[in-house]
Amino acid sequence: MKIIWHPKCLEYGAPGHPESPERLARAYEFLSDPKLGYEFVFAEPAREEDVLRVHSPRHVEDVKKLRFYDPDSPRYPNIFEYALLAAGAAIQAMQLHGFSLMRPPGHHAAKERVAGFCYFNNIAIAVRASGKKTLIVDIDGHHGDGTQAIFLGDPQVIYISLHSFPNYPGTGLRSEQNCYNYPLPFNCGDEVYLQTLNEALTSLDLSGIEQIAISAGFDTYYKDPLASLGLTTEGYFRIAQRLKRLGLPTFAVLEGGYNVEDLGKNIHALLSGFSD
Ligand SMILES: [Zn+2]
Repeated sequence: MKIIWHPKCLEYGAPGHPESPERLARAYEFLSDPKLGYEFVFAEPAREEDVLRVHSPRHVEDVKKLRFYDPDSPRYPNIFEYALLAAGAAIQAMQLHGFSLMRPPGHHAAKERVAGFCYFNNIAIAVRASGKKTLIVDIDGHHGDGTQAIFLGDPQVIYISLHSFPNYPGTGLRSEQNCYNYPLPFNCGDEVYLQTLNEALTSLDLSGIEQIAISAGFDTYYKDPLASLGLTTEGYFRIAQRLKRLGLPTFAVLEGGYNVEDLGKNIHALLSGFSD
């Protein structure tokens, strides 16, 4: 399994912000142990034309010129460059069937909106770049409201999200058109989560789907401060094993996950579930 990565993603941050460079630094340190056998590929920035398949020209300019306000998404100097790099890494993950280990995350960003630590919607940019009919599985603990807004009614995409509720951003209570939402109570645990995922996948008509794109957030982890659904490390392995049964080319893009000490271990569990 290839991991798309660039140390530039560690260059920005704000004191006390949960979406910190330390989370990726520690995850990289864990995953780069040669014993785990991962091959690392350097991330390359997305081209603006790739970003413009998802976001408006105005949004791209606003991110470039820091003309936005969102209390959770600081106006970091050069965030445009970092966001382009994370979007490009998502495209590489799609091409290589790998995992993008980059920040900032993306699933709250909509066509014309930064939100919830997200500036460009990385997974949406990768899916549009692929041109393939895609099942997006959003396993982040928050509802991917940006991804849903981008693809609502789009026949090329089926979006499913399992997320904690009530929680930020307050959406995803019910399914709409091609977007299937499964709100779950805090700390519901591996068994409830996996049963829900299984029911979700079983009920869908996946005919014509060519690939799976995973919005891989790990804030569902039982030690996470923001969106715990009580999942264990083994839970991520089991999620991957269930998705692997669909027998489709798969890639994954990091979203949230704020327990710094175990993020690398949980990513490894998910990736192992696809390889074993
Ligand atoms: Zn999240």
